[in-house]
Amino acid sequence: SSSTVTDNTYIALPALTFHFLRSSPSIGGEAHSLKVENILFQGNSDFQNVMVFQSSTYGKVLVLDGVIQLTERDECAYQEMITHLPLCSISNPKKVLVIGGGDGGVLREVSRHSSVEKIDICEIDKMVVDVSKQFFPDVAVGYDDPRVTLHIGDGVAFFKAVSPGTYDAIIVDSSDPIGPAQELFEKPFFESVAKALRPGGVVSIQAESIWLHKHIIEDIVANCRQIFKGSVNYAWTTVPTYPSGVIGFMLCSTEGPPVDFKHPVKSIEANDTLKSVRPLKFYNSEIHTAAFCLPSFAKRAIENK
Ligand code: SAM
Repeated sequence: SSSTVTDNTYIALPALTFHFLRSSPSIGGEAHSLKVENILFQGNSDFQNVMVFQSSTYGKVLVLDGVIQLTERDECAYQEMITHLPLCSISNPKKVLVIGGGDGGVLREVSRHSSVEKIDICEIDKMVVDVSKQFFPDVAVGYDDPRVTLHIGDGVAFFKAVSPGTYDAIIVDSSDPIGPAQELFEKPFFESVAKALRPGGVVSIQAESIWLHKHIIEDIVANCRQIFKGSVNYAWTTVPTYPSGVIGFMLCSTEGPPVDFKHPVKSIEANDTLKSVRPLKFYNSEIHTAAFCLPSFAKRAIENK
């Protein structure tokens, strides 16, 4: 490796290695580096720094404010799980809302569900949408679905115009709780989500790593238990390029017909015939159920909240 480490600093030589830390204030003392072949895009939007590079082992990589959002090689593990965990847990989702998710990967996954009639997405940063369409066509292909309506704006403000009970499912595909996504982890936002869901509607929320963010997760769980009166669960998946290699999701339902997230009511594999979109790479019904099995330390932290 060309990188050198001194006492309190990580030094990555930019031409050879790109070094990132996700949620840097909460993760001291560790880093994971990817070798950069070529920087393809760099720009500052009104909200954040946007960068795309070609890595030597994970394909193209999308980075926001120095934090990896997705790589071509492992995005399947995130997009498929954050989407099919909620949508395979209810029988006929018709209206789905995505908050964040500007890369389009969650849209691509929602589009596999034939019962869905309307997909709204509210992404704050148009540059993320444009850059994803240009550099990640296999991810941004989600925008080609005619059921999709893109709203550029803040996810918190978006709910002011949403009538109560509108959506069957909401997917919060946000970046970390630093910068523009901070409010997406706070109680008033969860309250808006709960109100916008129909009785027995479901939400899936990006919820960080059990290895790195115990306190953030405990707070999210405590808030969700107060607000989502159906069920509240934590599931997780492996994403090698996210810090610690894992990331979790809150899966919650509102009061109404009960939702048992651990046992999917339908199998998306059987429906996986969309010609325009690549076949599923990661999700299946067994991994759906397994995603809710937690290591003992995480189970204790989450159950005690
Ligand atoms: N899969 C990713 C991960 O966990 O790293 C998240 C991907 S997605 C690119 C996150 C998106 O949320 C970004 O495009 C960001 O612009 C968007 N975002 C952040 N704050 C937002 C807000 N307040 N309202 C709507 N979108 C927001």
